[in-house]
Parts: sequence; structure tokens; C-alpha cells
Amino acid sequence: MCIACREMKTKEELLRIIKQKDGSFTFNPKAMGRGAYVCRSQECVQLCMKKKLLNRAYKTNIDETVYKQLLEEYAGLDKD
Ligand SMILES: [Zn+2]
Repeated sequence: MCIACREMKTKEELLRIIKQKDGSFTFNPKAMGRGAYVCRSQECVQLCMKKKLLNRAYKTNIDETVYKQLLEEYAGLDKD
């Protein structure tokens, strides 16, 4: 489920953010850890940044750089 629009989507439609055991975040789909999902859409990625939805999803204060990474991840996908 997307944490921004709360719609159920298939894995292909979602970006996965994983919180690893050491507390760092990754976008590697093969990484182990607690995952949160956001649609591969400008709308949901922006909403996630604006409302800091990852903070809510993980119940912790998440660094701005993680949100920037999310945007970059999305922008990277957009290119191809
Ligand atoms: Zn969404």
C-alpha cells in the first residue's frame, strides 16, 4: 500500500523504501528490513516529502536526505 494515497498497488507500481537493521535507509529492493511503499508517481513522491510521511510510517524522525534520495530514485526511473 502506498503511504501517500493509501491505495493498494502492485509491486511494479511502487517504490520501496527499506529501513535496515542499522537504522539506515535504502532503495535496494533486495535489502532486508522494514519496508514502506510509495507510488512511482510525482504526486505521491511529492506528498510523501511535503508531509514527511516516512516519519509517520516508521514512527521516527527521518533525515531530509532520505526524502531527497526518494526523489532522486523516482527521477532516475523517470528518465528511462
Ligand atoms: Zn500513491
